[in-house]
Amino acid sequence: MILVKNALLPGLKKANVLIEGDKITSIGGASDKSDEVIDADGMLLMPGFFNAHTHVPMSLFRGLADDLPLQEWLEKHIWPAEDKFLDKEFVETATKLSLIEMIKSGTTAFLDMYTFEKNIAEVAEEIRIRAFLAEAILDFDTKDYKAGKGVEYAESLLKNNTELVTFLLGPHAPYTCSKETLEKVKEAAEKQNAFVHMHVAETRKEFEDLKKDKGMTPVEYIDSLGLLNDKMIMAHAVWLSDKDVQLVTEKKSMVAHCPSSNAKLGSGIARVRDLVKARARVSIGTDGCASNNVLDMFKETHLAALMQKAVNTDPTVLPAETVFKSATSAGYEFFGLNNSLEEGSIADVVLIDLKNPHSTPLYDYYSHLAYSAKAGDVDTVIINGRVIMKNHEIITINEEEAIVKANEYKEKIKT
Ligand SMILES: [Zn+2]
Repeated sequence: MILVKNALLPGLKKANVLIEGDKITSIGGASDKSDEVIDADGMLLMPGFFNAHTHVPMSLFRGLADDLPLQEWLEKHIWPAEDKFLDKEFVETATKLSLIEMIKSGTTAFLDMYTFEKNIAEVAEEIRIRAFLAEAILDFDTKDYKAGKGVEYAESLLKNNTELVTFLLGPHAPYTCSKETLEKVKEAAEKQNAFVHMHVAETRKEFEDLKKDKGMTPVEYIDSLGLLNDKMIMAHAVWLSDKDVQLVTEKKSMVAHCPSSNAKLGSGIARVRDLVKARARVSIGTDGCASNNVLDMFKETHLAALMQKAVNTDPTVLPAETVFKSATSAGYEFFGLNNSLEEGSIADVVLIDLKNPHSTPLYDYYSHLAYSAKAGDVDTVIINGRVIMKNHEIITINEEEAIVKANEYKEKIKT
């Protein structure tokens, strides 16, 4: 039992929050029967971020090559490095680095797509973060995902779900999976009642190629295969037609909007205003470190809001509360979890330190979180009712050791 005392909640009301097991059981009441009391005076309590699209092993490629055309970036830098280094030890080292970075910036749950997801699951369990893991499925050896073992292997992982870890099927993209493979994915997903995560409509090239080959947009194509439903999370969804916006909304699929990655790779700006207006489900993700280059959901939330205002020349688009909920509770809700900071909701929460100039003065809860708060403000992180980080330090892993190990890879990768 944990008592978080005197934290600021939405509406900036000060209250005590009691956590029992994995849930928040009381807000506002006093309790002296707690095992652990956290003095949250001068702090704000927020639901943790749900990073809805990333590739955690790619953190070791952070800053390896930037500002290059996609093909050159992949062929000359990322693929050769993956070809040389990608194995279990690399994935574990990179995952530890990424999870530390995510927890320290207020993320309590993430959705990943890569290979070696079983090893990523082990690290997530060790550190005690909530993880949704989609083993990548590809038809051919792109080197990028050379260890991709196909639908059968991804399906076999689904039985390993735990309280913290949920496995998904991860067909990489419409252009890396054949129609037959996607049909197999659909069949496996239906049989196992599994979620599916896929890159969809990321670039203009993907949109135009599919139009030419199949006479359909990427969204229409995955819909024609029966994959567009309330179990599908689409990363990016930048290139959508008006009809696609309607389809995504009607079929209750979720978009994982990745504004930094889309901007950095020159892919474009997703139609988030239109999706939100249509009442589609929209979450936010950082994508991998090779195209961001950080896993900081404060930055991502801030950028998501600002880019939509700029591109639509309208400051009322994607207001603070809307964008913040997209970055936090939307992802949880999609997976059937309530993380909306109320009695009965899951105890995946973060305490934000307010004793600094950029938090002063504080007029509005959501404005602060969407526009002013920074990763360094994260003081305490509680996941599934357990304290993972306190006084800016993670309890479940030796941060220094993990960073030293990651740096050892830098020396190898550089040469
Ligand atoms: Zn991605």
